[in-house]
Amino acid sequence: MDPVKLYAGILKQNLDNPKRASKMIDFGLAVAHLYVSIFKDKRVPKSFQYLNQYAIKIVKDALAHPENSAWVNLFAPTELVTAMDIHPLFMEAYSSFMAGFFIEDRLVDTAESQGISNTLCSFHKTFLGANELSIVKKPKFMMTTSMICDGNIPTFKYLAKKHSVPLYVIDVPYSYSEDGVSYVKKQLIELAHELENSFNRKLDIDKLREVVKTENETRALMRKYLDYAGQKAVVPTMTFEMYMLFTSHVLIGNPEVLKFYQMLLDDVKQAPDRTGKSVMFVHLVPMFEKNFERYFNFSDKLHIAGFDLNYDFLGEVDEKDPFRGMAEKLILNSLNGKVDRRLSLIAELINKLNPDGIIQFCHLGCKQSMGATFIIKNLATKLGLPFLHIDGDFVDRRNNQEGQNRTRLEAFLEML
Ligand code: SF4
Repeated sequence: MDPVKLYAGILKQNLDNPKRASKMIDFGLAVAHLYVSIFKDKRVPKSFQYLNQYAIKIVKDALAHPENSAWVNLFAPTELVTAMDIHPLFMEAYSSFMAGFFIEDRLVDTAESQGISNTLCSFHKTFLGANELSIVKKPKFMMTTSMICDGNIPTFKYLAKKHSVPLYVIDVPYSYSEDGVSYVKKQLIELAHELENSFNRKLDIDKLREVVKTENETRALMRKYLDYAGQKAVVPTMTFEMYMLFTSHVLIGNPEVLKFYQMLLDDVKQAPDRTGKSVMFVHLVPMFEKNFERYFNFSDKLHIAGFDLNYDFLGEVDEKDPFRGMAEKLILNSLNGKVDRRLSLIAELINKLNPDGIIQFCHLGCKQSMGATFIIKNLATKLGLPFLHIDGDFVDRRNNQEGQNRTRLEAFLEML
């Protein structure tokens, strides 16, 4: 019997008992963290072994210390919480972990039974379901942005009201202008004051500069990694490419993340050259989809070249004026504003990552992803690369048509 599935079965039976269920989740994360710390998977490069421990620890610590945590989304300017020693819990990670525990179906059903639309993205529905069942303890603060994800604002507003917790929503303009930067900078300063009030501590501006400095050093390593990644086979499974969202977004600016990219750079230099075909993913890497697992994980015939979301901002953040730097970073994100920006990023990554084909996994309910599909396909066609888009659900496995996906994936792989 698979111990994860056994645990998941017991957890599922206890979901109606919030105290017990949330203790079981804390326990499950603690055991998972201990397990990956002791039993390191030898097939996995050292950097990813380290990342495995780090990502689990981040979620575990945020859940264990709700009084010192803030709920955020993937694109939130978490440099502020890092500088103030606050644990960030990002909604997308929580929902992915619950899918890893095989309880996403119950959480999604719970959210829908409370009137949440079934067309809402399952990252949101899973998180909302956990809240409806009271298996996640409320944090001290919430923050999100208006950019990219149209589900964020209603989800966070609903949760802030439900728990009577302060929420800050950063309104990010679509296009870059001096006025736009000043507008976002002003909001970030206000947000910092609200964090100070909620957590009853001062933001040390020098500490924030230090975080931004570490962030810039980290991105320099990330850019170097891209110089090698196009020839090498270094990412062993889809999970690790997804785990990199922790390091490319919410946790960037932490010394542990800098260390991860130092290790990753060493690993990519020493990694074997690619021996098979490689695929670049757009938007999400479907790590819970059975066919993709079978074909991509630990394969020497098919390589995961990378995916665009991990590189949506590759510039520098102003260290002297970190509020201005963070504002610029938000506005200049490749997924913010017109689709042309995203296309430029994808073209740049194709050039660096040298894939043989592109797959876009169109996650159910994600309008920003689906809306760009045929434009991205045209780009791939222009560059002579096979393109596949598959409709599915990253979190809620029930929405994946395995038979149909297999047929389409295999036809695509034959083209490579
Ligand atoms: S998949 Fe799309 S809708 Fe869902 S959280 Fe991400 S950006 Fe938002």
